[in-house]
Amino acid sequence: MTLLKNGDRSACRAFTLLEMLAGVTIIAIIASIVVPRVAFHAFSAKEEACSQYRGDLNAAIERYMFDHGAAPAQLSDLANSNYYPADIPKCPADNTVYTMDPASQRISGHNH
Ligand SMILES: [Zn+2]
Repeated sequence: MTLLKNGDRSACRAFTLLEMLAGVTIIAIIASIVVPRVAFHAFSAKEEACSQYRGDLNAAIERYMFDHGAAPAQLSDLANSNYYPADIPKCPADNTVYTMDPASQRISGHNH
C-alpha cells in the first residue's frame, strides 16, 4: 500500500461535471425511446387479455347452452357452476363488466 502525498488526487479521481452531463443525457435519450414502447405494449397486452376473456366467456356460454338448451339469464349463472369456475372477470383494458347480448348470446362490446 502506497501513501498518497498531499495534493496527489490521481488515485481517487471522481467524475467531472461534463462526464455526469453526458451520462444523464444518454440515460434520458434511452428512456425517451424505451418508456413509450413499454407503455404501448402494456395497453396492447390488456387488450389481448380482454379478447381472451371474451372468447372464454363465449365458450362457457356455449357449454351452458348445450347442457341447458338455453342461454344463461345472466353471466353470473356461469360463475356458480362448472362452466366458468373463477369469478366473471372485468375487462382489463377499461375495467368494465362484460355483458351478454340476449339476441346473439355472445359477449357484446369490447372491440378495443
Ligand atoms: Zn374489454
